[in-house]
Amino acid sequence: MERCKSSARRLSFYIDGQLSDRGKRIIEKHILACKHCQDQLILFRAARFALRSFPNIKPSDSLDMNFIDKLNKQNSLKK
Ligand SMILES: [Zn+2]
Repeated sequence: MERCKSSARRLSFYIDGQLSDRGKRIIEKHILACKHCQDQLILFRAARFALRSFPNIKPSDSLDMNFIDKLNKQNSLKK
């Protein structure tokens, strides 16, 4: 996947909720097509959940968990 490198950085912005709606759509479209970024997103997301145990850090809730569910379902359908 040729645009993976730039997407990796965008991915962390996505997790942090720093992307515009348009940016989100672009990265979501890429993630759906890219297994590598799907794995990255799930890893990032897991790390975010870990951070929740620290009271001073408030992870963004702007990342749509439905999107993660959709990815997981899509992945399990492929198997
Ligand atoms: Zn990718």
